[in-house]
Amino acid sequence: MPAAPRIARIALDRPLDRLFDYLIPDALSLAPGQRVRVPFGRGTTIGLVVAMASTSEVPSGRLRALLESPEAEPLLGPRLLELLQFGARYYHHPLGEALLGALPPAVRHGDPLPALTPETLWRKTPEGARALADGDARGRRQQAVLRALGNGHGAAALDRATLAAATGLQLAPRELHALAQRGWLEATTPDPEQPPPPNISDHRLTPDQRAAIDALASGTSAPLLLEGVTGSGKTEVYLQMAERVLAHGHAALFLIPEIALTPQLSARIQQRFPGQVALLHSGLAEGERLRAWEAARRGQRRIVVGTRSALFTPLPDLGLIIVDEEHDSAFKQQDGFRYNARDLAIKRGQLEQAAVVLGSATPTLETLHAATTGRYGHARLTTRPDGTHPPTVETVDTRVHTPDEGLTAPLLDAMQQTLAAGHQCFLLLNRRGFARVLACDACGWVAECPDCDARLTIHAHNPRAVCHLCGHHGPRPERCPECGEPLAQRGLGTQRLEQALARHFPGIPLIRLDRDSIRHKGALEEALDRIRRLNAAIVVGTQMLAKGHDFPQVGLVGVIDVDQGLFSVDLRATENTLQLIVQAAGRAGRGSGGGRVLLQTGHPDHPLIRGLNAADYPAMVAPLLAEREAAGMPPHGHLALVRVEAGDAETTRRHAERIATHLRDTATEGLRVLGPAPAPRHRVNRRFREQILLQSTRRNPLHESLARARHAWQADDLPRGTRIAIDIDPVSLA
Ligand code: ADP
Ligand code: ZN
Ligand code: ZN
Repeated sequence: MPAAPRIARIALDRPLDRLFDYLIPDALSLAPGQRVRVPFGRGTTIGLVVAMASTSEVPSGRLRALLESPEAEPLLGPRLLELLQFGARYYHHPLGEALLGALPPAVRHGDPLPALTPETLWRKTPEGARALADGDARGRRQQAVLRALGNGHGAAALDRATLAAATGLQLAPRELHALAQRGWLEATTPDPEQPPPPNISDHRLTPDQRAAIDALASGTSAPLLLEGVTGSGKTEVYLQMAERVLAHGHAALFLIPEIALTPQLSARIQQRFPGQVALLHSGLAEGERLRAWEAARRGQRRIVVGTRSALFTPLPDLGLIIVDEEHDSAFKQQDGFRYNARDLAIKRGQLEQAAVVLGSATPTLETLHAATTGRYGHARLTTRPDGTHPPTVETVDTRVHTPDEGLTAPLLDAMQQTLAAGHQCFLLLNRRGFARVLACDACGWVAECPDCDARLTIHAHNPRAVCHLCGHHGPRPERCPECGEPLAQRGLGTQRLEQALARHFPGIPLIRLDRDSIRHKGALEEALDRIRRLNAAIVVGTQMLAKGHDFPQVGLVGVIDVDQGLFSVDLRATENTLQLIVQAAGRAGRGSGGGRVLLQTGHPDHPLIRGLNAADYPAMVAPLLAEREAAGMPPHGHLALVRVEAGDAETTRRHAERIATHLRDTATEGLRVLGPAPAPRHRVNRRFREQILLQSTRRNPLHESLARARHAWQADDLPRGTRIAIDIDPVSLA
């Protein structure tokens, strides 16, 4: 008889590609996925059991015994362990960091799991509804709470954390008790065995929506792409899908790009499934996050709504994973364990036999390709339940109509008409277009960050010049250091555009929506609220405007400078710009009859611009897909980036060259190794960056080469401060 396995192989939160063997004390029985405390160095640390063994390569005299297991059961089940092991291999990341990183910080740091006490749920009373309607509830916070609690069918009982998330406010218990004392709220305590039933929707599904739900129920295991513009009824489909899996005793996981930007969606899910939702995102306090995670793990809450890392939440009997806005790059972690939560969601669905739905108005080319070639299911919501049609897209030729402070005459005319009709105008400045720089018109000098390859930017209310890469702040120079001429502010920012608009449209409310204007908690909700309450108004913003908010009053969307994004060197810039236009178009033409989208461009005859058709995204991106195919780029080829970073240019270059040579020497058929080349931002925060691009028609050669190369450079003694990172399926080459 073989000896009982008294050795545990344990993953620790260390950047090392190995597990650590420990002896299991006699009294303890352990299983993979269980949390343990082990001696490490001179202290102790928390680890996770990955496997059991009866032998070890460590001589038995040197094996140390693990100390304890804080709980008698595994925290991660076998499927989730397998998912993370797969992820660590696929993304070439140390397993221990991936595994421990999948746990809430409090669990990783060894805190005990919380006991689950039923939480007080707050419900709005009829008096509360009246107070809100009659204006008796004056306070902004009071109104926010009462509004979040919904009406009629949307009425829900929510716990404090959920209310805080839905309102964007930090809510103290006494604040809610005070509202209860006025008779506006009532407190209830749910029975954990008998969760409140979902609030059933009274919508009759459109045929498209019905077909989408049937496609999911048909039982094929392939992921389903749910394609539909904002307002086409995607969320309603998600909710009804979730309702169905819950009725069968399964759990559902909603992944969303960013909670802060889409408070409406999480609030809607919570209101539909009162008391059933655990919210998980990085904005939570450690304790709140731990409780939400534990409630999900124990099956007390059957729906998890969360951002990227919520993918790793243990959920018994997972039946459905929904990835909303699947094209959003926020699903890709950009440092450390660089996983894509969308892609790992598909893997998790396979492992746990859960259905996977990817929703978007503008799917990535990868997802779209998989759907159109039949690898994924494809359901399209082509009509809007409210009967409105997506607007047509028109262009304004900036070679003919010269923009003045970003605005052309045709755009100003269209705005005038829209505002006169009592509708709203949304003006979009894309990502990199919003900052002003300091330049010398006489000699061409431009103010740059002393530590980065980046220009310093100027904001209206800040007397200093700021670097957006490293945060450097410096005094704003008055005169050119080269020739002494006075400096001018160049480039168009949302703030400057805002000032120009105030001159053109005096008296019209102006709202700016960008990361600077919504910095404090609740600011976004406030702005969104104001927009919804206003009729004629102008809203200026970055791509944040195009996220899934519902603004029925928008009559016109103007894109100030579409060329900047469309003709950029970055792999995804064109795709992202097309997505942005379609998303923005989704803002126009709701509620009221029709709407317009105006794009200011100097290239109105470019095929991509001519092909712009917000109603048919797949047709619109077809030329782009053909381009990618010709170039062997995703989805017709696979990419990986190796980034090398060090404190001086010389060291960085030398190491990057070594790695590239090694990759080239060992590359197998079909793998191309490009570079090293200086990264588009070569210097950031006084560090230098080189990158190597790997391109391959098949995945395997790429992964094999990388694994070998990584092995080799780990054996190398890297100079201090040199960092090498692998980015598989990068979302940006910049
Ligand atoms: P999306 O998630 O695609 O933006 P929603 O599900 O939010 O779309 O639907 C847009 C609006 O239409 C919402 O107000 C929703 O309540 C409503 N709606 C959705 N489906 C239906 C339906 N079948 N009948 C009537 N209204 C619907
Ligand atoms: Zn000068
Ligand atoms: Zn800088």
